[in-house]
Amino acid sequence: MKYSVVISEELQVKLKRHLIRADGQEDLCFALFNLSTGLERTTALITEVLLPDVGDRNVHGNVSFNAEYFDRISSVALKRGCGIVFIHSHPSSGWQPMSNDDIKAEEMLSPRVKAVTGKPLVGMTIGTDEAWSARFWIKSAPKTYDRFFCESVRVIGKGLRLTYYDKLIPKPYFNEAFSRTISAWGDNKQSNIARLKIGIIGCGSVGSVIAEALIKTGIQHLVLIDFDTVEMKNLDRLQGIGPASVGKAKAYELKAHLDRVKVDQNVKVLALPYSIVENEGFLSALDCDILFSCVDRPWPRFILNCIAYAHMIPVIDGGIDTNPNKSVTNLDQARWKTHVVGPERRCMCCLGQYSPEDVALEQSGLLEDQNYIKSLPKDHFVHRGENVFAFSVGVAAMEMQQFLSFCLQPRGQYYGPKEFDFNSGTIDSDFPFVCNDKCEYLLMLGLGDIATQGLTRVHEIAERHRANYLISPAPKKVSVFTIIKNFFAGLLKRN
Ligand SMILES: [Zn+2]
Ligand SMILES: [Zn+2]
Repeated sequence: MKYSVVISEELQVKLKRHLIRADGQEDLCFALFNLSTGLERTTALITEVLLPDVGDRNVHGNVSFNAEYFDRISSVALKRGCGIVFIHSHPSSGWQPMSNDDIKAEEMLSPRVKAVTGKPLVGMTIGTDEAWSARFWIKSAPKTYDRFFCESVRVIGKGLRLTYYDKLIPKPYFNEAFSRTISAWGDNKQSNIARLKIGIIGCGSVGSVIAEALIKTGIQHLVLIDFDTVEMKNLDRLQGIGPASVGKAKAYELKAHLDRVKVDQNVKVLALPYSIVENEGFLSALDCDILFSCVDRPWPRFILNCIAYAHMIPVIDGGIDTNPNKSVTNLDQARWKTHVVGPERRCMCCLGQYSPEDVALEQSGLLEDQNYIKSLPKDHFVHRGENVFAFSVGVAAMEMQQFLSFCLQPRGQYYGPKEFDFNSGTIDSDFPFVCNDKCEYLLMLGLGDIATQGLTRVHEIAERHRANYLISPAPKKVSVFTIIKNFFAGLLKRN
């Protein structure tokens, strides 16, 4: 199992103010967390910071806390059903190692925390440059707690900032092929972006372009999630996929293409022929640091919205709306929009990217019934006009810009949702940045596994696709007659 911690920008500000002291002394506090459990990674989602009152701790160069403070924290954790994080600061920068006193203190706390909460103690240290380090103390035997360092600590809000533990996720080496990319934003940003584990949900016209753009940006770890099969009618819109792929799984075919074009052989591309609404797809998405939503259906969008808030994994989403004129002699209009969804940003439901009624409709299976679809009103999303490759490239480019803006924030600038109008060529950015007041997804924030238990389902269409994939084209049979015919044809030619 791998480990990580997530903090919202809001709590990061609170922690930083308390822990990084002007007098250079160390300080401490406690916080609460919920668990987010993926297939390969467990994450502590910090939900609440409980600062000490006067007399709760003694600051004397190093710092220590009193029993009353810990007792108070224990009772709040018990009431909320949360785990406990013990946090302290060091007067130096970067990922912090642990002193013998640090180890002793956390070893002493581990059994007490486990007894009160049933969860492992999470220890964290912040440096003067706001770099974090973190570890889980897991009970391995009676009275024995093993320390597991986190591979990263992620601070998420209007932007995304990660501190990596270089020993667990080493800085990648970039050869000359990436010299121009690195010259755009420097070594440090490049190694931070490149180490993000990125999931692409949907390997269609938008997802396939984004996947290649991410490989060309130097991303080291991609997860492709899609159960769909390549069809003839997809070939005018799938990046890197040709007629030989018809009948095969989109995710595998896209992976094969990316493996062909990648420069760095260490780059890992994982292809999963599942839907995000199925357990396998869902749990693999929880292992990622960022997700790209390249789906066009309400049900997967709803699941991704839940992941963005409950598990605090930012989702970059986009959508296209086009239609021809009545006589189909020209395009009537085309618009596409993109946005980053997650803590401190507006959710897909508030953005109108799906409606709960349509999620229920898709779950019922009625969207597969052609007669039922005909009965739906003309402005229903199922009647939207078809996308074309050039528009998909437009959406993919805007999603990549949202992604880079979110990670880089040049000059401290960032932006919210953007919508491009093809007819006028204008980009609209006048949208609310955060959710509506009564948005129910805000109540899910940081609840992790508790909020999404039982959310995944059996997806019959996905199962049908998997059962019918053409794995590889059957070799053409050559009859004895053809061999003899070719032999004589050859003889005649020679004569
Ligand atoms: Zn320390
Ligand atoms: Zn909302």
